[in-house]
Amino acid sequence: MTSPAPTVLVFLDPAFENGRIADSSQPQLMATDLGATRGDGVFESLLAVQGRPRKVQAHLNRLGSSAAALDLALPEQDAWRKAIDTAINEFRNVHPAPTPEEDEVVVKLIVTRGVEGAASPTCWVQASPSPAGSRRQRETGIDVVLLDRGFDTEAGERAPWLLLGAKTLSYAVNMAALRYAHKQGADDAIFTSTDGRVLEGPTSTVLLAHLETVDDGDGSVRTVRRLITPQHDSGILPGTSQGALFAAAKAAGWELGYGPLVPQDLFDADAVWLISSIRLIAPVNHINGKEIGTPAVRKQLTAELNELFAGIE
Ligand code: PLP
Repeated sequence: MTSPAPTVLVFLDPAFENGRIADSSQPQLMATDLGATRGDGVFESLLAVQGRPRKVQAHLNRLGSSAAALDLALPEQDAWRKAIDTAINEFRNVHPAPTPEEDEVVVKLIVTRGVEGAASPTCWVQASPSPAGSRRQRETGIDVVLLDRGFDTEAGERAPWLLLGAKTLSYAVNMAALRYAHKQGADDAIFTSTDGRVLEGPTSTVLLAHLETVDDGDGSVRTVRRLITPQHDSGILPGTSQGALFAAAKAAGWELGYGPLVPQDLFDADAVWLISSIRLIAPVNHINGKEIGTPAVRKQLTAELNELFAGIE
């Protein structure tokens, strides 16, 4: 029998300033919790590297906007920060990483509406090991298929109850899309809209690079490097990794662009990546079986982006 993956739970509880550590091998939620019965809640996933949680403020901000979209009142950010630190410290004490390179902890912030009629939501932090598969994909790259999400790019604005830009607990559709991609022999998927735009991955943001050689007319030739991501107002989740990476890339001289993007833009790109807080930067080798760019350019640009990303707190 395989033992369950090590997990640390820390509930936000006003009686415990730094959060209340709970036994993850024991039941901790009511079976009637609306998070369990309706997927009614929101979450965040962030990575702690060598004990330091990354982009905490950006994740707390997005947790706040997701919660606002569901009319959920959250505890103060300070309570979250303390519970995050407790969870990471407890996890690293109980499960020390064998090497500094493997010292990564996945930290989830989870909020459910609680049981019917609850005065406040149920909130906890979960710390668990980072999946080896995700770490591997940063190196090997991934093959991706395009999948129709079934919405147009204006659905989010027209029908805000779809909660398209919020990170809700209802990820069953995203997980089903991943399984569908796996059955087709791919590692991941990129959603497209019914009006033909590139959206996002089921758990990631799409990023592409275009390199353009510009002749300045004075005999000098330079390469303009452009990073592009789909526009945020197309019913996608604004990625904290994309936001942080864009800021770092801009400082390093990249030009930045925000869609709209169509699938042909992906096929024409010099490199495409799926990026997220846990897997970080996964280069896309093939989309629908077609190679994107060349292995050498993918490798070089991925190394550059990794270096920029490593500097992000
Ligand atoms: N889009 C979706 C649907 C996601 O679930 C995620 C992350 O899980 C992302 C984008 C990337 O967001 P971040 O970079 O903040 O992890």
